[in-house]
Amino acid sequence: MRQERIVLIGNGMAGIRTIEEILKLEKNRFHITVFGEEQHPNYNRILLSSVLQGDAGVDDIVLNEYSWYEDNGIDLFTGDPIIKIDTKKQVVYSRSGLKKPYDHLLLATGSNPFMLPLPGVEKEGVIAFRNIGDCETMMEAAETYKKAAVIGGGLLGLEAARGLLNLNMDVDVIHIADHLMDRQLDSDAGKMLKAELEQQGMRFHLNKQTVKINGRKRVTGLTFSDQSSLKADLVVMAVGIQPNVGLAKQSGIKVDRAIVVNDCMETNVSNVYAVGECAEHRGIVYGLVAPLYEQGKILASRLCSTGKEELPVYEGSIVYTKLKVSGAEVFSAGQFIDGEETKSIRIHDDFENTFKKVVIRDNCVVGAVLFGDTSDSSRLLSMMRSKTDISQMSKASLLPSEAEGGQGESLVAAMEDGDTVCGCNGVTKGEIVCAIKDQGLTTVNEIKQCTNASRSCGGCKPEVTELLALTTGEEVSTVAEPLCGCTTHTHEDVVAAIKEMGLSYVREVMNVLGWHSEAGCSKCRPALNYYLGLVSPLQYKDDPNSRFVNERLHANIQNDGTFSVVPRMYGGVTNPSQLRKIADVADKYNVPLVKVTGGQRIDLLGIEKEHLPNVWKDLGMRSGYAYGKTLRTVKTCVGKDFCRFGTQDSIGLGITIEKKYEGLNTPHKVKMAVSACPRNCAESGIKDVGIVGVEGAWEIYVGGNGGVDLRSAELLCKVQTSEEVLETISAFLQYYREQATYLERTSHWITRVGLDSIKQAIFDDGIGRDALIERMEIALSMHEDPWSEIVDSDEKKTELFKNKSVIAH
Ligand SMILES: Cc1cc2nc3c(=O)[nH]c(=O)nc-3n(C[C@H](O)[C@H](O)[C@H](O)COP(=O)(O)OP(=O)(O)OC[C@H]3O[C@@H](n4cnc5c(N)ncnc54)[C@H](O)[C@@H]3O)c2cc1C
Ligand code: SF4
Repeated sequence: MRQERIVLIGNGMAGIRTIEEILKLEKNRFHITVFGEEQHPNYNRILLSSVLQGDAGVDDIVLNEYSWYEDNGIDLFTGDPIIKIDTKKQVVYSRSGLKKPYDHLLLATGSNPFMLPLPGVEKEGVIAFRNIGDCETMMEAAETYKKAAVIGGGLLGLEAARGLLNLNMDVDVIHIADHLMDRQLDSDAGKMLKAELEQQGMRFHLNKQTVKINGRKRVTGLTFSDQSSLKADLVVMAVGIQPNVGLAKQSGIKVDRAIVVNDCMETNVSNVYAVGECAEHRGIVYGLVAPLYEQGKILASRLCSTGKEELPVYEGSIVYTKLKVSGAEVFSAGQFIDGEETKSIRIHDDFENTFKKVVIRDNCVVGAVLFGDTSDSSRLLSMMRSKTDISQMSKASLLPSEAEGGQGESLVAAMEDGDTVCGCNGVTKGEIVCAIKDQGLTTVNEIKQCTNASRSCGGCKPEVTELLALTTGEEVSTVAEPLCGCTTHTHEDVVAAIKEMGLSYVREVMNVLGWHSEAGCSKCRPALNYYLGLVSPLQYKDDPNSRFVNERLHANIQNDGTFSVVPRMYGGVTNPSQLRKIADVADKYNVPLVKVTGGQRIDLLGIEKEHLPNVWKDLGMRSGYAYGKTLRTVKTCVGKDFCRFGTQDSIGLGITIEKKYEGLNTPHKVKMAVSACPRNCAESGIKDVGIVGVEGAWEIYVGGNGGVDLRSAELLCKVQTSEEVLETISAFLQYYREQATYLERTSHWITRVGLDSIKQAIFDDGIGRDALIERMEIALSMHEDPWSEIVDSDEKKTELFKNKSVIAH
C-alpha cells in the first residue's frame, strides 16, 4: 500500500515537534518531506539566548541532527523555501524548482521579527534577534564594535542585551513603556528587574520612542522623539513578531492576523493544517513553545487516527514566561494585572529582593508574577491549569517557599504526580518519576531524551535534577552533560579515556571516541588540548590551532582588530628603567592608549598585529597573560615595609607567587592577590586565590570571583610561613586543574563540589597532597616564554603575524 505523503513547510520548533509526535504514534504510516528556509537542521530557537550569552555553542542547540531525519526516512530540504502551494492539485513548489505532491500539508512557517518602519532601518548594523544568522551577526559585530543599543525591553530584548554584555559590548536598552517586560510584569516587579539588570551593567532609557536610526551606510546611533540621541554601532530590534503568512495568503488559505485554524488545527482548505506561531486559534496567536507543542500533539493524533477513536481537541493554552538571564529570576503567567473581579496576594521582600504576586478569581489562581525566587512557579502553573479551588488553602500551601522553614523543604517532593514540572513540554512529575523507575534513568540528559522534560528553555532543569535525586536516592551530578554537541561523552569520560587508552592528539581523541563532526568545534578543541596537556604534561605537544585567537597570538585582540600588550610586572612592582622602556615603546608605535589595569599593570592598547613581535622585543619584558586560561596577575598591597597596618611582606610573597605559577595552564583564568592585613587593599576576598596576612600567619581564601557571578572567597586554611602558602596553592591549584571541567572558574567548581571535599583532598590525605604538589612541579617545569620564542624565530613571526586575517572564535 502506498504510504500517505506528509509535507511540512517549516523546519522549526512546532513543525518538527508535530513530526516527532506522529512518529511516536505511527512510525511507518507516512512518507514525510520537510522544507526549511534556514540552512540548519531543526534547532532550539529558545536557546539562541544561551548561545549569545556564551553558555552554549550553535552545535549544542541542534534538536535533531541530520542523522535523525535519515533514520526516520524523512526527506529534508534545507535552505530551500516553498514559494508556491497548489491546494487543488495538492502540490508544493520550492525555490530551487522542486515539486512535491502531498496528501497532508503542514504549515509551520513561524514568524518574522517585526522591524519598526523607522527612517534608517535598512542600515548596516540594524538587526533582529530571531535565528542563528542574527546570533552570528551579533557575535561578529562584538569583535569590532563596542556600543550596542537594543530597542525593546521585553523578554527577547533583555536576553539579547545580556548576551551583548557578555560579548563585552556597552549596552543601552530603549523601551517605550515605563517599566520593563510590561507585557509580563506589573510595575513593582518591572522596577526590581531594572535595578537588578542595571547592576549587571545594562543602561535603560524608559518612556523613550525611537524616531530615527542615524548613520550613513552603517548605523551610528539613534534619535528619540524628545530630540535626544544615543550613539550605537549595533542596533538590535526586539519589538515583536509578525506571523509568517505570506505563502498561505497567496495560496488562498484563510488568514486573519495569522493562518486561521479550528480546534483540530485544520485550515479552511482540506488537508492543509497549521501549527506554531503562524497559526491563529480562537483569535489568539501564541509566541511561546508550550502552546505550540500542545497544538502539535493534537494535530499528530488527528493525522494518525483510524477514524474510529475519540480524539482530543485543542482548546487554547495558558501561557507563562521565564526570563533566561542569570541573576534575574523572573516568572509570569496568565492574568497578572489586577482586574475588577480579581484579588491578589502580594509579598514584597526588600531584604531578600523578592516579589511574589498571585492573582485569584472565583477561588482559582488565574495569574502570577514571581521575581527573585521562582521556585513556586511549577506549582502555581499546575493550579492554574487544573483550576484548583483554593478557598480552603493557606498562604503557605499556595506559596510553599514562603512557609516557615519553607526554604529548607523540597518543593518538588511536595508536588502531586499530576503537577507539571516542564511547562514547555507539558511533562508531569509522575511521568518523569515513572520514566526514571521503569527505564533505570540515571542522568538529567537521559530524562531529557526520554521524556522531553527540560529539552526547551531548560528552566526546569533544577527541578528535574532534584526529582532524579529524590527518586533514585543518589546524589546527582549536574555536569553529566556531554562535553559539547560533537560528542555524547562528558568531560569526565573524555579525561578517563585519554588516561586509559593513552591518547595523544586532539584528532585521535575525536576518532577513537567517535566524535560526530570530523574537526570538532570551538568548544571541544580547546578542552581536548587542555586535557591532553594535563594528563601527559611531559609528552604532549600543545596544539596552537586548538586555542582561542588570543592564546594563539599571545596578545589580547581588541574590538577594532588591534591588540593590547600588558608587560609583565611581577606583583605589580616596576622601576624607572621599565617605565622608560614602556614609554619609549608607546611613542615608537604610536600606542593610542596607555592605561593602568584593574590588576595593577600597564596596558598598551591599540597595537597593530604585525608590530607585536617588535613591541615585545623592544620592551624586553615578558608579556602578561591578560587573556589566557592561566594565571593572570597577583595583585598586592604595599604591605609591611610602607603601610602602617601591614604585618606581612605582601609584595615579596606576591612576586614569588606570580613568578612560580606564571604560564600554568588552568581550566579557566586564575587571579590572585596578597594583602598584608585584613583591610584587604589588594581585594583578596574576590580572587580565585586570595592571601591575607594576619599577625604571624597567612590566611588563604579560595573561590572568589569579582566578575558577573560575584562571589566571596572562602577560607581554605591558615598557615604560618610563605613556603606553606606556596605548597597549599600548589595542592589547591593542581586539584582544581585535575577535577574542574574546562572553562569552569574556581568559584563555580567550589560551588558545585563544596569546599569540604576540596579540603579533604588536599589536607586529610598527606600522600595525596604530596602527589598533587609533585604533579604541579612537573607542569610548571614545562613552562616556556612564548614571546621570546616568537621574537627569536622568523618562521613563527611570519606564520603568526604576517598578512593573515584573524578569525576570532
Ligand atoms: C531568542 C529567542 C528566545 C526565545 N525564548 C523563548 C522562551 O524562553 N520560551 C518560549 O516558550 N519561547 C521562546 N521563544 C519563542 C519560540 O522560539 C517560538 O515560539 C518557536 O520557535 C516558534 O516555533 P515555530 O515552529 O512556530 O516557528 P520557528 O521555530 O520560527 O520555525 C519556523 C521555520 O519555518 C521556516 N520557514 C518559514 N517560511 C518558510 C517557507 N516558505 N519554506 C520553508 N521554510 C519556511 C523558517 O525559516 C523557520 O525556520 C524565543 C524565541 C527567540 C527568537
Ligand atoms: S591591606 Fe593592610 S597592609 Fe596592605 S595596604 Fe591595606 S591596610 Fe596596608
